Amino acid sequence: MTALQAKHLSLRYGHHFVFKNLSFTVEDKDFLCIVGPNGSGKSTLLKCILGEIKPSSGKILFKNGSKNHHIGYLPQNTELNPIFPASVYEIVASGALNQIGPFTPYPKAKISSVLETLQLNTLKNKSFQELSGGQRQRVLLARALVASTDILILDEPSNNLDYKSKQDFYKILKKLNQTTTILMVTHDLDHHNLIGNKILSLDPNLPFFGSTSDYVRRIHAE
Ligand code: ADP
Repeated sequence: MTALQAKHLSLRYGHHFVFKNLSFTVEDKDFLCIVGPNGSGKSTLLKCILGEIKPSSGKILFKNGSKNHHIGYLPQNTELNPIFPASVYEIVASGALNQIGPFTPYPKAKISSVLETLQLNTLKNKSFQELSGGQRQRVLLARALVASTDILILDEPSNNLDYKSKQDFYKILKKLNQTTTILMVTHDLDHHNLIGNKILSLDPNLPFFGSTSDYVRRIHAE
């Protein structure tokens, strides 16, 4: 089933088009890597998908006509206030803030299951500030998963991770992808070759949407 479909999407700031007539389809359990040089519109596209900005024309359709609150989002270089000593559990649970209300309590079972899946149980009472870069990224991924296990959007999640932490993080993503659709902005060509099944390139010199294997063939043919 189609998870998300962008139809003839254009976005411009003033007279400058960031992208024009962009169409692509993400199926359930796809792992789409969005690539392109700085300034090619990757973050702007994510903002459109998240509903933070409206495209100038075209539209984005979600599964079953649902809205984008079914998205779990891990933004780029997430900075949390170092003075606020939040625990791992509190940060992960904060992913559910948009779901709770006077008659809807915290989804404790879901939070526990996400902590279990991401092997964060032994860290749950620790302060976020005490954690390593790789552990922090795992906690922020858990927060996004508590918000939604339907679609995950990750903006350059491995940017500040060392090689080993990056490998571990990608292993987790691969496992999550068995049940969750993932869209990830990345510069990490080595790794997206290995983990994503589809690529959207916003590079004006190499526009592309299709399978990762076709993209690799295209690059080698250049
Ligand atoms: P990327 O994420 O690929 O680095 P961006 O989506 O951040 O690219 O930016 C795409 C283009 O849109 C750039 O030329 C950038 O300068 C421009 N841009 C981004 N945000 C704004 C804004 N709020 N107002 C005007 N121009 C913007």
